[in-house]
Amino acid sequence: MVRGGRVVLGIDARGEPEVVEDGAVLIRNGAILEVGRYRDVAARHRIGQVLGSDGHIVCPGFINAHHHVGLTPLQLGSPDLPLELWIVRRLASRLVDPYLDTLYSAFELLASGVTTVQHLHGRTPRPVTRIIDVATEVIRAYQDIGMRVSYSYGLRDQNRLVYEDDEAFLRRLPPDLAGLTRELLAEQTLDVGESLAVFDELHRRYQNQDRIAIQLAPVNLHWCSDSAIERTVETARRHGVPMHMHLLETALQKEYGRRRTGGSAVAHLHRLGALGPDMTLGHGVWATEADIELMAATGTCLCHNCSSNLRLRSGIAPINAYRRHSVRIALGIDEAGINDDRDMLQEMRLALRLHRVPGLREEEVPSAGEILRMATEWGAMTTPFGARVGRLAPGRAADLVVFDWRRITAPFLSDDVPIVDALVQRARPAHIHAVLVAGEVVLQEGRFLRVDRDAALAELAAQMQAPLAPVEIRNRALGVPLLAEARRFYDGYLDGESREPYYRSNSRR
Ligand SMILES: [Zn+2]
Repeated sequence: MVRGGRVVLGIDARGEPEVVEDGAVLIRNGAILEVGRYRDVAARHRIGQVLGSDGHIVCPGFINAHHHVGLTPLQLGSPDLPLELWIVRRLASRLVDPYLDTLYSAFELLASGVTTVQHLHGRTPRPVTRIIDVATEVIRAYQDIGMRVSYSYGLRDQNRLVYEDDEAFLRRLPPDLAGLTRELLAEQTLDVGESLAVFDELHRRYQNQDRIAIQLAPVNLHWCSDSAIERTVETARRHGVPMHMHLLETALQKEYGRRRTGGSAVAHLHRLGALGPDMTLGHGVWATEADIELMAATGTCLCHNCSSNLRLRSGIAPINAYRRHSVRIALGIDEAGINDDRDMLQEMRLALRLHRVPGLREEEVPSAGEILRMATEWGAMTTPFGARVGRLAPGRAADLVVFDWRRITAPFLSDDVPIVDALVQRARPAHIHAVLVAGEVVLQEGRFLRVDRDAALAELAAQMQAPLAPVEIRNRALGVPLLAEARRFYDGYLDGESREPYYRSNSRR
């Protein structure tokens, strides 16, 4: 049993928290058996171990709905650049052991209350068997630490370097550079059938695992041909798994969509049959009012990655417009947050603050309750776990965070501050008493109960001291000259008008 002076069950349709005073959550076999007043629950059942007290508060575990890597691009030598240039510059990064890399960010995620992560993986050299081996190592890290993971291997079949055909871009390059780049692309090229084979194999392998789910991720419109998207959608619907797709992350991507489809990327996905409650669009910074209306009408979800959008100069997503249209919004830390780490509490706070536009009406901007719903129930709905996580209710998985209320409020907090306001605005990882996944305590007082954090990080540090492998030397030699070529390619890609972001071009309506 987990006890709290207040137990936050979830957020209701109006964005208001549902709270049980002096509450308890009774857990059996990884699931929630009962939630209610501590007195009542304790009277009805023979209680074994009790975690927490009336000095703790309990809330559903958080969902980081968009995650990629452990060591951050910055740590690996890639400075924050505009997204399109950053993608090319990152080719020069070191290779990192997938198991230790995944553990590294899992420590940060779990320490900030994340119990479920959407791991969007990519760019492992072929063949398919190697990709499956690497995926297995990523998943094993989550299994070992005890987190719930929805894993996907990103599907892309074109335009791997810039927003044009690979061969056309290679022809722009000096012959030496073109040769090495062709070699690199050949390693990373999977056809759609091979990518779907990766999904099939992993989906089959993990289908009976409670904390692991496999889903699909066509990476972005420019990276996928229409037939790749259609085949992915067909596969997803046949297996009943959701999809997550980056879209309209930057102004350049909006312009790419216009050149390719004659209109909007969102409308194009709709024509391909890809929108619906099982599709989550990551970023959506450059969506128009019509795009947002279409997402709302089809039940398509948005994943808001605000740190990433700031770091890579993508812009500020029009979250208040998405809210007005009742689009379900999840939160994703993406590569790393503004402190170059994976602190979900800080990401929630940034999402809360970033959209506080001037005005007097409360409903114009997100409330703390809405942010908590994005980080829990709405995030959950973008994963295959859906209604099994994200709220505390009988029958749902016992994924929850126990905060020490005294630490959040020390040395004083007025008793008229609503609990969720205090939680979203003040809580830090150091205020977490325990994190449970499937009823199992996996973190307590900053200690990971299943994995030796210090040993894992020491091993990671030691491995990164190794001399560069030949393939890393080649990649490093490619990163900087390709960055210059990418700059040349994108120069003039946008005219003045298409740089107008949503919040300027639409806010006067
Ligand atoms: Zn991403």
